[in-house]
Amino acid sequence: MFVLAASTLATSCGTQKEKEETEFQYNDERFADLQMLRYRVEGFDNLSLRQKKLVYYLSEAALSGRDILWDQNGRFNLRIRQMLETVYTDYEGDRESEDFKAFTVYLKRVWFSNGIHHHYGSEKFLPGFSEEFLQQALQNVDASKLPLTEGQTLEQLCAEIFPVIFDPTVMPKRTNQADGQDLVLTSAANYYGEGVTQKEAEDFYLRMKEADPDPEHPIMFGMNSRLVKENGQLKEKVWRSGGLYGAAIDRIIFWLEKAKTVAENDKQVAVIDKLIEYYRTGDLHTFDDYTILWVQDTEGDVDFTNGFTESYGDPLGMKASWEGLSNFKDKEATERTKKLSANAQWFEDHSPVDARFKKQNCKGITAKVIVAAILGGDLYPSTAIGINLPNSNWVRAEHGSKSVTIGNLTDAYNKAARGNGFQEEFVIDQATRQMIDKYGDVCDDLHTDLHECLGHGSGKLLPGVDPDSLKAYGSAIEEARADLFGLYYLADPKLTELRLTPDAEAYKSQYYTYMMNGLMTQLVRIEAGNTIEEAHMRNRALIAHWVLERAADGSATPAVQLVKQNGKTYVQINDYPALRNLFGQLLAEIQRVKSEGDFEAARQLIETYAVNVDPVLHQEILQRYKALDLAPYKGFINPEYIVTEDEDGNITDIQIRYGEAYDQQMLRYSRDYKTLPFIN
Ligand code: ZN
Repeated sequence: MFVLAASTLATSCGTQKEKEETEFQYNDERFADLQMLRYRVEGFDNLSLRQKKLVYYLSEAALSGRDILWDQNGRFNLRIRQMLETVYTDYEGDRESEDFKAFTVYLKRVWFSNGIHHHYGSEKFLPGFSEEFLQQALQNVDASKLPLTEGQTLEQLCAEIFPVIFDPTVMPKRTNQADGQDLVLTSAANYYGEGVTQKEAEDFYLRMKEADPDPEHPIMFGMNSRLVKENGQLKEKVWRSGGLYGAAIDRIIFWLEKAKTVAENDKQVAVIDKLIEYYRTGDLHTFDDYTILWVQDTEGDVDFTNGFTESYGDPLGMKASWEGLSNFKDKEATERTKKLSANAQWFEDHSPVDARFKKQNCKGITAKVIVAAILGGDLYPSTAIGINLPNSNWVRAEHGSKSVTIGNLTDAYNKAARGNGFQEEFVIDQATRQMIDKYGDVCDDLHTDLHECLGHGSGKLLPGVDPDSLKAYGSAIEEARADLFGLYYLADPKLTELRLTPDAEAYKSQYYTYMMNGLMTQLVRIEAGNTIEEAHMRNRALIAHWVLERAADGSATPAVQLVKQNGKTYVQINDYPALRNLFGQLLAEIQRVKSEGDFEAARQLIETYAVNVDPVLHQEILQRYKALDLAPYKGFINPEYIVTEDEDGNITDIQIRYGEAYDQQMLRYSRDYKTLPFIN
């Protein structure tokens, strides 16, 4: 599970964190609704050469699975990428023409989304150039560079691919979450073969679960395979060496083998070994063993995520997209999260949820702040700022979990957002803005820590409850649970006692920005007329709207309300402690829903509070946001690692280089990390 940058604003200022600024450019180019940023790998130079090598090998492993994600996001994506990139590099017509400019924007969007659907909303975005333009451009490039199948002509290729690019009715959603539709048949994501229905997929995995000899320790059923129908029979095509995506996985294994030779300790060697074994076999029991070892590996500085991890892209929430991340510990900032994990049991005991749903023994919760060194797969270029793994409920309960807050990315978001006018437009008054200036950065980081380290790790399922029983609503409910845990405790005196918040007022900044985001400003990410689909956005809308409604219940001065000033809508908070109470009440209910697997209640909550958008308010927010001329989504360009070798090929030094242009990075990745055939 992960947390995204909570707000589009990424509140700024924070005098506490003011550092000597060099000329580093956090903001890079902008196109469509996207802003490219850069992050600094602070502290890399202080690592030993051996650690630098480890980071480097893990970074190569993190980049080597790129093609997997592209294919998971849609079965035409790899071919489309090849067609577009060939035109981009070889086009000899007028590169200043409107068509070519629109083409460039489209390609950059495809790169950003790792496919043709919006990375966040998952709807297909349409090109601003014509079919004729692309057809002509393709006719004028070297045909050997195009992804033609055996005996296929260019005309046939265009006939096959163009509807996928241009026709809005073909594969319109990557991950469809609309209640009442067949979510599998109507989703373009490549997790289910052609013709597989939602009912068939659900029954298939239900039968598997019913046959499980050890239901107390279920594997993550279906997590690492595509479910296909062959001759009328359903079967899984497993993603492993020698199986589906085998060529990419072999490349990942190659780099993991190298990483093993410079691991920091024996535990790390064992972790990497087990991951390789899992990649070779595709066995999900081995995967559980791997995650247990990974959770226990806490001594080294360098760490990684590599594999099929998050299931947000599967409409049924089972199949995991591939992602990679290499990182090392930010020791100073980690002192902060250590305080939380050391007190995990206290937080569990004092939470407002029913005692039946609490963990008696919070085991193995570890948390740290890390410096990201490379982002790959589903973490690139749009990324998480916090990650909590593993996702298996029983592994978390019996062996604990590892939480990370990615400090150098939040820092980059904050720095890039300085002075962009967002707060002046949407925050109700000067006093509230000053409060956010003063406490915003600290509380944002802390909320992420609480969400990841304690929120996801808290609570338990009642015996016999299927972890997947909330189905398509599971992700949003789980995110709401973690967010609420964080919101509730941000206001607790315990945090001031632990010296995590500077004083008893600090939490108010997060309460304000959270409500503002959930009720208003996150809507800038939604096109007029659309509903909310992404799990983290649904979670925020759910919390904010539920609380708003409860606050209004028979109260003359509600704890929180929407008010109008000069024709503009603002969030006004009248009673912060009462707001905390409401967060606590909702946390108790959400935990009950999760612990009991109450699907109907989950459906009610989500469909009532988290999906629909008030069209009038939406219009207003979009207009106000448009006037600021900001991009609602952000993503990161990776740094480059420049390796120096001696005559014998031994690495003698590794340096970081910033400044590679986004298109150059994308073309380089397509060249150096092309691992899969066009059709998988
Ligand atoms: Zn989360």
